[in-house]
Amino acid sequence: MNKKLHPEIIKHFHSTTFTTPIIGVTGGKGGVGKSTIAINLAAAFVANGKKVALIDADVDAPNDSLLLGIPLENPEPVTIMQPVFDSDKCTDCQKCVKACQMNSLFRSREKTITMMGECNGCEACYLVCPADAVGRGSHSVGTLYTTRRGDLTLYTGALQPGLAESALVVNAVKKAAFADADNFDIILVDTAPGTHCNVIGALKGAGHVLAVTEPTPLGAHDLELILSLLDMFAVQTSVVLNRSDLPGQQEKTEKTGRAGSVPVAAEIKLDKDLLAGYLQGTPVVELFPNSSAAKIFLDLADRLAAAWPDQKTQAKTKARQEQL
Ligand code: SF4
Ligand code: SF4
Repeated sequence: MNKKLHPEIIKHFHSTTFTTPIIGVTGGKGGVGKSTIAINLAAAFVANGKKVALIDADVDAPNDSLLLGIPLENPEPVTIMQPVFDSDKCTDCQKCVKACQMNSLFRSREKTITMMGECNGCEACYLVCPADAVGRGSHSVGTLYTTRRGDLTLYTGALQPGLAESALVVNAVKKAAFADADNFDIILVDTAPGTHCNVIGALKGAGHVLAVTEPTPLGAHDLELILSLLDMFAVQTSVVLNRSDLPGQQEKTEKTGRAGSVPVAAEIKLDKDLLAGYLQGTPVVELFPNSSAAKIFLDLADRLAAAWPDQKTQAKTKARQEQL
């Protein structure tokens, strides 16, 4: 089914300014346990001696902090430019009205410019105004939180309820984590469910993506969608089959992954220890480190880390060699 993207788009998707590996955790469908997989994988990397950044990029409903049992700390507002119009300077040219792609600006009978809809902070109205009549105000669209616990740092983006600028909050939370990228061994990105542009934005730069699904008709259907999308961006992908012993469409779900040459990286059964961790807000890797569920995550973390054998060290060595 897949369309081919322009090579420059794929190149841009994969470009980063650092060498720390990024692993995405996503899923075409909501409610498949994506965040449970993400927080347990983060805990498993930490247990294996890694310094981990976990980005909760599901900014409409961020819940990794609840699943980890840690509070949201160090709030910082995510703001965008919002125009402020000076009617004394305005010459009524209406260039700002035409430039606004959100169709949010309106010229009233009194010849003043008024905002009547959503503003995404693009600054077009500010840039086109020939009379210096547009000032740069600011408007909060969400909050970025940074919580540090030992070798795990959780970056959480939370969109202000009722607003639509989730992409801006996703970008802000990724930017904050990426600014510290060299201090981490692994960056994990837990995306929103679905296949919309925020999911792609959240996964930009990921060297490997885990597509989480469950063996249900909806799970199989939505897995197909997310795998097709990831294939378009040429992302290395594997499937995590959650609740794999649910009676139903396991074979179909597994075949979806395998039919597209996508391996199943882990199968996680319905598990009382995992459920206990979920209810207590503690990763099973910490709560029951010797349980079979914990071992699945520890093994998965080991295998994923092995996929980047000394990549970071090699890049640093190369950079040093180039300086000599
Ligand atoms: S572009 Fe500037 S001068 Fe023209 S209508 Fe808008 S605010 Fe007024
Ligand atoms: S900043 Fe952009 S979206 Fe907002 S009012 Fe100006 S042109 Fe429209």
